[in-house]
Amino acid sequence: MSEGARDLVDPFGRVVRDLRIAVTDRCNFRCTYCMPEEGMVWMPRSEILTFEEISRIARICVERYGFGGVRLTGGEPTIRANITELVSQLAALGIDVAMTTNAATLRNIAPALREAGLDRINISLDSLDRDKFARMTRRDELDNVLAGIDAAIAVGFDPVKINAVIERGVNDDELVDLARFGREQDIEVRFIEFMPLDATDEWQKSKVVGQDEIVARLGEVWDLEQVPARGAAPADRWRYADTGQTVGIIPTVTKPFCGDCDRVRLTTDGQFRTCLFATDEFDLRAALRSGETDDEIAARIEAAVGTKWAGHQINQVNFIRPKRNMSQIGG
Ligand code: SF4
Repeated sequence: MSEGARDLVDPFGRVVRDLRIAVTDRCNFRCTYCMPEEGMVWMPRSEILTFEEISRIARICVERYGFGGVRLTGGEPTIRANITELVSQLAALGIDVAMTTNAATLRNIAPALREAGLDRINISLDSLDRDKFARMTRRDELDNVLAGIDAAIAVGFDPVKINAVIERGVNDDELVDLARFGREQDIEVRFIEFMPLDATDEWQKSKVVGQDEIVARLGEVWDLEQVPARGAAPADRWRYADTGQTVGIIPTVTKPFCGDCDRVRLTTDGQFRTCLFATDEFDLRAALRSGETDDEIAARIEAAVGTKWAGHQINQVNFIRPKRNMSQIGG
């Protein structure tokens, strides 16, 4: 922790120390559980935070509250021009820099991202079947994504992980194939429960393949031992008894893990969110652009964290979907 930093504690005693930063709302994919095929209205450039503004918020979180890392998300972070420049600026803060990407162009920029200081990478891969991949992402890019995974492993990101959103009747028939892919590549696959953040409001609980079911279906093929204690990490993890490798599940809907949450988010247009499903936001962009001092901005961050709720309310009758879809919040 930086000298002089202190814990940023929310009303439930959770220490906030992980900042997720959405660097663009744009994407080169149109995943069905995230975006509509057509009609997305992109944020005007003037509304998007500059690298300097993003780095300033990150620096305040590191210096004042001892944040240990940031994760770059989107939309698709790799399509933001000169993204390696931002990675360098953040790495210079002496923190862990991670990214979540669809890897469509990663085969070209993995070395430069690594060189700039990117440490870890999560790659979205929801299907190994070319046709289904194209249906789910509305892009015929499976080969490029697989080449991106190879490049990520080759340049030494540590770790490289796979994120697979599982939707019943769409790709749950590939649970075993995706798990086997992770074993063969020696990288951890994390299965993500389908969340109500799609832009077309088609989410239904019946489409969610829950953690228990996923474990049971993988357990028909492999002996799995649960890895105890996850801390604030979103994934529960299991170890394959035969190889010692691990597989993860992010059970946001069926087994919420909000009790250990240490995450806050910064949207592409500078709104501070205390939860992925938050229905309110705090405008840091206006604060940055009106010349507020670090003290004043830090006070806004503290005030926002002071309103953080116990957790999402997906399973409650009063659940209200966020106004933004996933691509406008960031994973
Ligand atoms: S749903 Fe919100 S509170 Fe729960 S773990 Fe995710 S970000 Fe944290």
